Amino acid sequence: MDISLRVSSLITPQGEWNVPRLTELFPPEDVTHIRSFPPAPLKPDRHVWAYTKEGHYSVKSGHWLVNHEVTAREGITEDTKTINKVKERIWKLQTAPKIKMFLWRALSGALAVADCLQAHGLAVNTMCPLCRVEEETITHVLFKCPLAAAVWHLTTLPHPDEGFGVSITVNILHVLSLMERADLPSTTRAALPWLLWEIWKARNSTLYAGKANDPNFVLVTALEASDEWLKQQALNDQEILRLQRRGPVLATRWVKPAVGQLKCNLHAFWVKNTVHYGGAWLLRDHNGEVILHAREAFIPMVNRIAAELRCILWCLQSLHNVHLYSCEIWSDCHAAIQAITQPLAWPKYSSLTDKILQVMQGMQSICFRLSSPKANALARDIASSVVREGRFNSYIARGGPAWLHNRIEEERRRG
Ligand SMILES: [Zn+2]
Repeated sequence: MDISLRVSSLITPQGEWNVPRLTELFPPEDVTHIRSFPPAPLKPDRHVWAYTKEGHYSVKSGHWLVNHEVTAREGITEDTKTINKVKERIWKLQTAPKIKMFLWRALSGALAVADCLQAHGLAVNTMCPLCRVEEETITHVLFKCPLAAAVWHLTTLPHPDEGFGVSITVNILHVLSLMERADLPSTTRAALPWLLWEIWKARNSTLYAGKANDPNFVLVTALEASDEWLKQQALNDQEILRLQRRGPVLATRWVKPAVGQLKCNLHAFWVKNTVHYGGAWLLRDHNGEVILHAREAFIPMVNRIAAELRCILWCLQSLHNVHLYSCEIWSDCHAAIQAITQPLAWPKYSSLTDKILQVMQGMQSICFRLSSPKANALARDIASSVVREGRFNSYIARGGPAWLHNRIEEERRRG
């Protein structure tokens, strides 16, 4: 591989990817990925986060990456694998994000206890400042220091057979297994992550504010905080359900556009790892009569969203070519419509959405609407025929396809 290679040497003077050069340099899956995002040579370079579907960073995806990148590297110890598995379980817990974060830091050795500070090169006394009996490790603070031990004793939950050991991973695994035991009271089980958190907070309040902590109080605070969080979650869930019920109900059958308007139903039939994917659109007037329809086979794209956006771009270019400058575009891919209408929130697809917006600038009134898959069935069927029946020849034609005549008639009558 030529290490002085630049992206610009992979772009043709016309501003398209130089496909022969890509094919020469990269494996086929990578070529598909690259070609899913057309080059934007006039725009300045910028960062896009590759691990969320929109292209924006999220803390969760960051942690996921840290765990998976570490796992992907060679020479990884069994110990690290176990820790990563425990971390994955922590992200799935039904508890507050701050608590998950706290447990994640405990497992990663990222809490400011003497032992960790020393590991980072700070000259500190490693003896536990609370009991002055043992070295202050994360395990010691959360499980073995007298206050922690007293709290765990009060819970009356079973301890590991030989008591809590030195490994924080093993101890947290024990806590996670307790949380799954249906024979134990559910409120106590749900409160266990909060219990570790309250023990940690109690340690800090003693250390930094000289506060004396009572184990009963620590336990009760954890139970209350957990209970309150669960109640709040239940309320939020109800609220979300209420909003979803109130949200736009998509018509399950096709409806004619307003008088004088044109309605274009569009679909990209995308299946992973196929040689081609199909796209189709069908333009109808307010009487439900088909003005035009078109079909196209596309090169593979990396996912459904990119495929739908590519299809929308093609549709707009086709309409522009036949001097149709106003219409409603109906797609059943919610993410693609969002990427066009809120491009800043979807930076991953900006090279496609920029091209779409560019074509729209040369038109009059184009708007995007979300269709239910059912109401979009004709466009879906034409698009899928490209792949299912190997209809790779592309065309744009007046009226609708003959094989869909009856269904077009039915939608015209009922719409
Ligand atoms: Zn101690």
